[in-house]
Amino acid sequence: MTSALKPSGSTDVGGARCWRCHEVILAGDEWHLGHLTDRVSGGGDDALLPEHAYCSQAAGGSLGLARRRRGDPGAPSAEHLRPPGGWPGPSRDWWGPDVPKGRRGYPVGDRRNES
Ligand SMILES: [Zn+2]
Repeated sequence: MTSALKPSGSTDVGGARCWRCHEVILAGDEWHLGHLTDRVSGGGDDALLPEHAYCSQAAGGSLGLARRRRGDPGAPSAEHLRPPGGWPGPSRDWWGPDVPKGRRGYPVGDRRNES
């Protein structure tokens, strides 16, 4: 526990990057610590990384992300933005070889694997 990160709700994460979208978490952005690896997959509390609250909830969706960043309360979730045929796979292995992946190559538990 050497990190200065607070469990949730802080607006100061020192320019930390969201592990889901790789964007800097800005002051004022809602965020929390997400499990990089599910406990059932062997992950522990040392695999907690900051993520945007909207990334955690929607697990992606660039249009929704942009709208949420503008503070639009009616921004759609990623589910409503799902392209026909489902989400394309990730452009690269953003999560590293140690993170278990689902059917489409997103981490296990990411809803984009289901589309
Ligand atoms: Zn994010």
